[in-house]
Amino acid sequence: MKRVSRNDIIFLAVLAAVVAVVFLVFSVVGNKEDGAYVLVTIDGEEYGTYSLWQEQEVPIIQDGVTTNVLVIEDGFADMTEADCPDKLCVHQKAISKNNETIVCLPNKVVVQVMGSEESGFDSIAK
Ligand SMILES: [Zn+2]
Repeated sequence: MKRVSRNDIIFLAVLAAVVAVVFLVFSVVGNKEDGAYVLVTIDGEEYGTYSLWQEQEVPIIQDGVTTNVLVIEDGFADMTEADCPDKLCVHQKAISKNNETIVCLPNKVVVQVMGSEESGFDSIAK
């Protein structure tokens, strides 16, 4: 009869743990290293770029007035506040993938995801 030794069990447990840790590290590092960030432009002019992997609240200020507030969390960028009348940008869902955008037409604010690996090559090929 085949007998599973104690060493085999320990070996398998260690192996499983190592695989789990490696997988975890790679998935986290992989996400961080794909370099996704959002580009904010106002009226076609670059306002700033912000990493999607750094939690932050970005006030978008025009002429001394905060017109929009962009919140970046867990790899998603979401417009949470705006002083535009339609609030379409606030109602748009959070973006995370390459070339997804949040547009605030009245304020001429465009937020676009850049540099994410997920669909980068696809979008170039199109
Ligand atoms: Zn808006």
